[in-house]
Amino acid sequence: MDHFLYRNGVLHAEDVAVPDIAAVVGTPFYLYSAATLRRHYRLFADGLEGLPHLVCYAMKANSNQAVLKLLGDLGAGMDVVSGGEYARARAAGIPGERIVFSGIGKTRAEMRMALEGGIRQVNLESEPEMRVLSEVAVSMGKVVPVTVRVNPDVDAKTHEKIATGKKENKFGIPIARAREVYAEAAALPGLDVVGIDVHIGSQLTDLQPFRDAYGLLASLTRQLRADGHDIRRLDLGGGLGIPYERSNSAPPLPVEYCAMVREVLGDLDCEIEIEPGRLIAGNAGILVSEVIYLKHGEGRDFLILDAAMNDLIRPSMYSSYHEIVAVHEPAAGVPLAPVDIVGPVCESGDTFARDRAMPPLAAGDLVAFRSAGAYGAVMASEYNTRPLVPEVLVQDDQFAVIRPRPTFDEIISRDRVPAWL
Ligand SMILES: *Cc1c(COP(=O)(O)O)cnc(C)c1O
Repeated sequence: MDHFLYRNGVLHAEDVAVPDIAAVVGTPFYLYSAATLRRHYRLFADGLEGLPHLVCYAMKANSNQAVLKLLGDLGAGMDVVSGGEYARARAAGIPGERIVFSGIGKTRAEMRMALEGGIRQVNLESEPEMRVLSEVAVSMGKVVPVTVRVNPDVDAKTHEKIATGKKENKFGIPIARAREVYAEAAALPGLDVVGIDVHIGSQLTDLQPFRDAYGLLASLTRQLRADGHDIRRLDLGGGLGIPYERSNSAPPLPVEYCAMVREVLGDLDCEIEIEPGRLIAGNAGILVSEVIYLKHGEGRDFLILDAAMNDLIRPSMYSSYHEIVAVHEPAAGVPLAPVDIVGPVCESGDTFARDRAMPPLAAGDLVAFRSAGAYGAVMASEYNTRPLVPEVLVQDDQFAVIRPRPTFDEIISRDRVPAWL
């Protein structure tokens, strides 16, 4: 359940009518519901209650400061994948002890930043990275808690661009080599090996790949302990999918995922860390856009919106589906007709949906893309010099712009023309 519902025929975010926000902010804009964000975080926190655990929100899904503060206030940790994200997490008041650092290409500068500011653990992805981190830690007179990300070679059965747990993917070390790699890590003076990390992909709609990967993790935990390592934390990654298309079968619920985690890993006496991103933010946000034109083409009609691929790239990049609804609820029984829903950018790839059955819409009408809270605003660009799409947060009957739309002057003034030109 999210908090974007029709009331008296108008789409609301919690207690605020979407058109009221559009009138103040202008379109397009992202709109998030604080209640939904909180609810999704609690599904995981409650689901793991009784086990020592930390929910580390994968902030690459949506890293707005307001979102981070809201989740941080509930006790969330953060999974960061760059120095920039680390800085954002700290700026939002998240203490270093609640931040885990993932990613395959951490630079020395990023490592130093995390070690200086404080870090719960660094998730290592290769031997070269391991050696560099140890060197950096020693040079700073520190010992840093680490896990090694293992690649369990399971098929996450998701889109190829977001599958990460097969042996041909660039992530982690092959699980078959784990003992060797852990032996080296334990011998490096700057590292304190505290656990194991795995993350097999995103938008998983079946528990079985998780169950397979976590089963392998349980065996590896026993094996590594027998080898003398003090394995006390298991970082299980994120990846639980969300229902983008309501007509499809629904992905497993967080409560089911957590029950499975408890069943497979609950008796290992380890602290459990999970890194959900999409499930927390995805259905907590919509993208609101206005219809600019309805264009009758040869054999097909185009609904041209003021949102484009630069604002929401998921359909172009992953061929992903977003439900697109009229902000003013269509009358019951109104006939639907197929349209292509497109943005104004000069690329045919700027298409949100083809032959989508839509109610009659006209220029000036508002539409909302559902499930746009994750991997939406964070992936936006200013391609075609379209100002970075603003973000708005609703809580009960209040709303606030949490990232304003830049003006053209602000955009242009970021460029510098050399004096010699
Ligand atoms: C992207 C990512 C996540 C979050 O994945 P979701 O599908 O958004 O839950 C978690 N951990 C790591 C290491 C990631 O790269």
